[in-house]
Amino acid sequence: MPITTEDMLRWINQVATVLHENRDYLTQLDSPIGDADHGINMDRGFKAVIAKLPTVATMDIGSILKTVGSTLVSTVGGASGPLYGTAFLRAGMATSGKNELYEADVVSMLEAALEGIKARGKAQPGEKTMVDALTPAIAAMKEAEQHNVRMAQMLRRGSDAAEEGMKATIPLLATKGRASYLGERSIGHQDPGATSSWLMLKALADTCA
Ligand code: ADP
Ligand code: MG
Repeated sequence: MPITTEDMLRWINQVATVLHENRDYLTQLDSPIGDADHGINMDRGFKAVIAKLPTVATMDIGSILKTVGSTLVSTVGGASGPLYGTAFLRAGMATSGKNELYEADVVSMLEAALEGIKARGKAQPGEKTMVDALTPAIAAMKEAEQHNVRMAQMLRRGSDAAEEGMKATIPLLATKGRASYLGERSIGHQDPGATSSWLMLKALADTCA
């Protein structure tokens, strides 16, 4: 079963709900290795996205995702606004004109999003950022897609791999973003951006279950 425009809209609404529910948790994670605003940033951004959504609800998936991206760029301060904004803009470009996405389309869309984050943040895996949740997640989904695993299970494998990647940020030394200012003291803390990335991919798997 492909993902439809309606599924995408349900996913974006679910992301807004989940980020709101996890606002304090994400902000707590951003306290020891950041400036305690990641939950506030993400909640503010997705509240603005939800307010914009009715204006694009009848459009194609690409247009919807591009609107999410531009809204995040313009409403979220901090590193995560431009990074997630770029991710959604690139995801929108990868799905331009489409009203349904098959497994391979979802993988291409997420690969484009991750490439956007890596280019914008000059980040690579192993630097204790959202890239460390997204990279194994997309690799797991691509592997699943190549073995003809169907949508729901492919998305679940991606979400599970993102969770592993998120947990694996705990022992890492941060070399990007605010956490990098702490040097060795960044070790032992879970990255907030990797956590929000997992929450978004989990919401996708839950929405399409
Ligand atoms: P800020 O750090 O500006 O306060 P947020 O707290 O909203 O912004 O987001 C912090 C998260 O952004 C980090 O946990 C990390 O995952 C991600 N991040 C920061 N800098 C980069 C970067 N250069 N590349 C990729 N991700 C980054
Ligand atoms: Mg912060």
